[in-house]
Amino acid sequence: MKILVVEDEPLLRSGLEDLLRGAGHEVASAADGAAGAALGLAEPFDLVVLDLMLPKLDGLEVCRRLRQARPSLPVLMLTARGAEDDKVRGLKAGADDYLTKPFGARELLARLEALARRAGDAAAGPEVLESDGCRMDLGRCEAKRGRKAIALTPREAGLLRWLHRHRARAVPRAELLERVWAAPGDLETRTVDMTVANLRQKIERDPAEPRIVLSVKGVGYAWGGGAG
Ligand code: CA
Repeated sequence: MKILVVEDEPLLRSGLEDLLRGAGHEVASAADGAAGAALGLAEPFDLVVLDLMLPKLDGLEVCRRLRQARPSLPVLMLTARGAEDDKVRGLKAGADDYLTKPFGARELLARLEALARRAGDAAAGPEVLESDGCRMDLGRCEAKRGRKAIALTPREAGLLRWLHRHRARAVPRAELLERVWAAPGDLETRTVDMTVANLRQKIERDPAEPRIVLSVKGVGYAWGGGAG
């Protein structure tokens, strides 16, 4: 893979470069947010490792800019220890996963592999779904009802993708955390419920109408839309 590393601490940056090159990846790095955003927009990367606290432009803003241009680019955010607010903000800005410093080499590589696998999974499925008068373009993170365009977050698109692909069954919250959030055990299952609630407000017409995302009591969620 071709990986972009944006990290201002020189020792950590060079350590990440060595580690990723050692694992067989091609690596480019930037020491501040502005340089990282410019590099990320100028060249095609498969994955981004992005520090949250950066000079010139912070990680949240870098993430937003990269996401705008390339919604499907996987981003792993690095956060300071115990900064719960940072994690939440990072995930809201569109990061796919986060890792708290200090972290081990094996954990970082495992997270990156999971992110890459998920991105690969996403590329394999159908990217446009239609249900209940709503057209969902998952690749572009956009839904449309009539002429009204609705922006989806990458996470919401991932959730729809996973539910549709496994529409023959109900999907447990824990599986959604593992496969859509790539964060088993790190986040609470309530996170899934909050994301589903937001998503329903965007794509479902009326609580009385058939639902696109079904709640399955005692299990989790299921695709309730058409097969298309
Ligand atoms: Ca930093």
